[in-house]
Amino acid sequence: MFSALFRILRGCTGRVMINLLRFAWRGYWTVKAFERRQRKGQPFFPAFLMLSITSRCNLRCRGCWVTPTDPPHALTLAQLNGIIACARKYGSSFFGILGGEPLFHPDLFTLFETHPKAYFQLFTNGTTLNDEIAVRLAKLGNVTPLISIEGLETESRLRRGRDDVFSRSLTGLRACVRAGLFTGVAASITQRNFSELVSTDYLDFLVKEGVHYIWYYIYRPCGNDPDNDNALDHDRVLELRRFIVEQRRQAKLFIIDAYWDADGKAVCPGAMGLSHHIAPNGAVEFCPVIQASTTFLNSDASNLEKAFQEDSFLQNLRTFSARQGRSCVLMENPGELGAFLTENHAVDSSNRDFLSTLNQRCRFVCHDLPGEEIPERSFAYRLMKRSCFFGFGAYG
Ligand code: SF4
Repeated sequence: MFSALFRILRGCTGRVMINLLRFAWRGYWTVKAFERRQRKGQPFFPAFLMLSITSRCNLRCRGCWVTPTDPPHALTLAQLNGIIACARKYGSSFFGILGGEPLFHPDLFTLFETHPKAYFQLFTNGTTLNDEIAVRLAKLGNVTPLISIEGLETESRLRRGRDDVFSRSLTGLRACVRAGLFTGVAASITQRNFSELVSTDYLDFLVKEGVHYIWYYIYRPCGNDPDNDNALDHDRVLELRRFIVEQRRQAKLFIIDAYWDADGKAVCPGAMGLSHHIAPNGAVEFCPVIQASTTFLNSDASNLEKAFQEDSFLQNLRTFSARQGRSCVLMENPGELGAFLTENHAVDSSNRDFLSTLNQRCRFVCHDLPGEEIPERSFAYRLMKRSCFFGFGAYG
């Protein structure tokens, strides 16, 4: 932990550090405010929002939930400013910025510049990131790039449909490190990339490249080309959990997951209401991969609170998901989820036939490991999970 902290202090610029510390401090109080709202039954508003600001992308990754449209869908600056102003009323100032490829959104930098007190995690494939963009982000200081790398050279090519993806993402990553940004790498773990990305060699490689954190995801076969055979099985999920817990005690970078609490029990950020998602077409969704909704944002997002507080759809889906279990309701209970969404008159917001195909979707193992829970062994991670990442009453 200390070597990871020291590397951040040594690698990031002063402005990036100040914003990171402010985010860490505010993030803690955002979660506490959310916990209080939940406990006291006050009007609901998630602690964090994931914003998919455009469906435009230069890659076509197998299993991606985003369906390309022509023209691409995109949230307007008026909608984005409305969302951030609304979230601020609830003490929330952290936003995940997703796509498609968010760097293709024409107002991305205006968004970052307009909200200097907000903190943004930029989910990017990194292939269009260069020194000029990285230096601009560092000058702002309120953005952490999270670059998705889905395998080394060969696996990146197979998964992302282009020859040079790995080298271009690496070029983008190096530009971020050179600029002194708090730089992260995301990996959605599959059968094929497991041995490459769930290894100490890979963590050492990232440390050598100057990366400060890695965020491990479990691959969710989605979209028009889901690649079901590449999904993890029970033993691989258990092995991933064991690796994460082990490496957290010695790794020189932070290792993040949004699946397990301090005791190794599975949790779903959507079921807890900790985070929800807004799609490029304005759909207010449970999470990025459950592409159905009953509320679409209006031109200035002034109906966002209504979506969370007057429309019972998301509340009902949170309750439904938690009743199905602690794991991922899309992965483990797609048929039941489909029936629930239809009964609740949800509209398909996927730009393809997400809803009607749910009952044909096969069940996948996901991150709930009943009876095989592996608690955090690192004191620091236990503390962080205990204070900021637990059930929030969703599971009784
Ligand atoms: S439903 Fe699945 S993908 Fe969505 S937030 Fe929960 S665990 Fe994550």
